[in-house]
Amino acid sequence: YFFDKLSEAMSDISQTLSGKQRLTEKNIAKALKDVKRALIDADVNLQVTNGLVKRVRGKAVGTQVVAGVEPAQQFAKAMYDELVEVMGGDPGADEAMQTRFELEGKVILLCGLQGAGKTTAAAKLANYLKVEEKREPLLIAADVFRPAAADQLRILGSQIGVDVYVEDNCTDAVGIATRGVSTAGYDVYVVDTAGRQVVDDALMTELVDIRKAVSPDETLLVLDAMTGQDAASLCARFDSTCDLTGAVLTKLDGDSRGGAALSVRAVSGVPIKFVGVGEKLADLEPFYPARMASRILGMGDVVSLVEKAQKKVSDADAKAQMERMTAGQFTFEDYLAQTETLASMGNFAGVAKMMPGFSGIDASKIDAAELKAKRAKALIQSMTPKERRLPDLLIRDKTSISRMTRIGKGAGFDLRAAQTFIAEFQAMRTMMARMAAGPGASSPTKPPS
Ligand code: GDP
Repeated sequence: YFFDKLSEAMSDISQTLSGKQRLTEKNIAKALKDVKRALIDADVNLQVTNGLVKRVRGKAVGTQVVAGVEPAQQFAKAMYDELVEVMGGDPGADEAMQTRFELEGKVILLCGLQGAGKTTAAAKLANYLKVEEKREPLLIAADVFRPAAADQLRILGSQIGVDVYVEDNCTDAVGIATRGVSTAGYDVYVVDTAGRQVVDDALMTELVDIRKAVSPDETLLVLDAMTGQDAASLCARFDSTCDLTGAVLTKLDGDSRGGAALSVRAVSGVPIKFVGVGEKLADLEPFYPARMASRILGMGDVVSLVEKAQKKVSDADAKAQMERMTAGQFTFEDYLAQTETLASMGNFAGVAKMMPGFSGIDASKIDAAELKAKRAKALIQSMTPKERRLPDLLIRDKTSISRMTRIGKGAGFDLRAAQTFIAEFQAMRTMMARMAAGPGASSPTKPPS
């Protein structure tokens, strides 16, 4: 994952600073050097890096370590605050702003270089407007430069159930855009424009003309995160002719070094409004500097995770599950429901990355976790409904061996696989109840049999 080195540097820091009473120029020197190297490795613009490191130093040096707080945590807080600032600040106090992002107005123009992910972003955005904001979007195919673009948009539109305005055999992009946005029956128009390999006059002239014709409320530049800090200078160039209102940073899920996320706003002044995190049409997220900062630092993006989970599980179900969990009565059925929630949130790796402690984990480990979840599912499905509801039937003793053998076999594994999973489940169940009961609590109440 991108910024791995930074999270590594941050965990080294907790060791160097452990036990220190005060953060000094000297004891944070190595930490700052590591941070700087990590940022440069992630292809963050040099000036942005230097500015950030300087401000973190200014903030951290001389700070008395507060009782009950690790010095490294105090350093991390200074880093976090600066990262948030660099990416555009935190609307902060206003929680509503944090959880809901609304695009202004009704005409949204997308521009960018070829291959940046513009056509995909147009469809993702239309999907977002439809699903999250309950609006009625029309996609407009005004990319007349790349012949396949209109067809691509048509296909994507049909996948998300959004209409697409296309004029076959028409090469007049301005005309298409103009007629597109005056089509009645929609409340928001997303215009996909042509890209080029590089910025040239033809591209800019066309964009300026389209802008004049359709007066967009939002002009968003689509940027490929893989291009690192170059994305930031490109953004500044587009902004000077097109008055951008924001940027969409795509392919943040890839091996990109992530420098673009930190450089774009600082270099061009243009805020990142959305990020693309996968090839699927649901893989678009509003960009929140605060959340990004905690992901970058490997602190895990708990806020996003919780929101995603909340959308999938009804409150009543979640509450009942939670009660059974804390009472030591968590069942295999609950377990299955939870893993299915995880799976339905989309790609397992994507979700896992947002969980605290997972952000630095490598892909092979995530695959292993996914495999484990699949195996657990097969084993649970091979249990009888009664066993699923009453895990105590499977507590390891003589009578349970035959049950476990049957379960293992039914799932396509052996007795040992069933025993291992069930033992882990029982341990987890006991631990959940202990944690809920707090320190010093005795063992959990037994479920009714
Ligand atoms: P355009 O030329 O700018 O219109 O680019 P396209 O929309 O055709 O996208 C180019 C390629 O990038 C396609 O293969 C997309 O599937 C891929 N792509 C776009 N956005 C993302 C993203 O957020 N993540 C990943 N992994 N791939 C993406």
